[in-house]
This record gives sequence, C-alpha cells and structure tokens, in this order.
Amino acid sequence: MAYDYDDQNVFARILRGEIPNDTVMETEHTLAFNDITPQAPVHVLVIPKGAYVTYDDFCANASEAEIVDFARTCAAICKERGITADASPGFRALTNAGEHAVQEVPHFHMHIIGGRPLGRILSKMD
Ligand code: AMP
Repeated sequence: MAYDYDDQNVFARILRGEIPNDTVMETEHTLAFNDITPQAPVHVLVIPKGAYVTYDDFCANASEAEIVDFARTCAAICKERGITADASPGFRALTNAGEHAVQEVPHFHMHIIGGRPLGRILSKMD
C-alpha cells in the first residue's frame, strides 16, 4: 500500500510559506531549519521539498537527484555546525516513521542533533 500524504501537515505548510521557519540551509530539493523545541545545542530538521511521508517512502520513490541532494545537505549541515565526528565528539541523525516511532509530523524529516553527549539511542527494555 502506498503512503497517503497529508498536505496540511506542518512541514508542508512551511514549504508553501504559510508558516515561518528558522532556515539553516536551502537547496533545489531540500530545506533545513531549526527544530522549534530543540533537544540539544544543535537540532536541525532536514526535509525534502517533495511530498514523502517517511524515510522508506523517500528512499523508494524520490529521484536520485532528490536523494543525493538530501544526503549532501545533511552532511553540509554537520560540517557547517562543527559536529562531524572527525572534528568533534560527533552527532546523531535519526528519523521517526509511523506510530511505533511516535512520528509527529507526517512529512519525512531527518533530525540532526549534536553539541552535547546524547546517550544511547534506546534504553534497554525488559
Ligand atoms: P517527529 O516526532 O520525528 O515527527 O518530530 C517532529 C519534530 O518537529 C519535533 O521535534 C518538533 O519539535 C518539530 N516541529 C514541529 N513543528 C515545528 C515547526 N513549526 N518548526 C520547527 N520544528 C517543528
């Protein structure tokens, strides 16, 4: 079953210029902006301009140009913010998809988080 894209989601509205955002970087296919409730000194959201719901939707259905542009933009943000693992203690890139991951906004986005120790990604569950 294909993903159903809700074009009223908050990131779609940001892309249409209906609500403001704190832009960090913009390219032909990608927009990056600061998270409104940052969890660390660096917390940037990277989104494709195309209508994709999740990471797997994006990877399966986006063009190669969109995918390359998205990946290079993530790397450029890490470099620009000084959080690459070669030059600093590093960062975390994560994306939530669907209910089990508690995805709040149904437009694919990558969280780029850094600037403090982040702990393990998951706590151990019994
Ligand atoms: P997720 O749970 O992975 O879907 O994360 C959604 C993220 O979007 C959260 O970290 C929110 O703080 C962030 N967010 C929601 N609305 C906005 C907005 N208008 N501008 C920037 N970030 C937002």
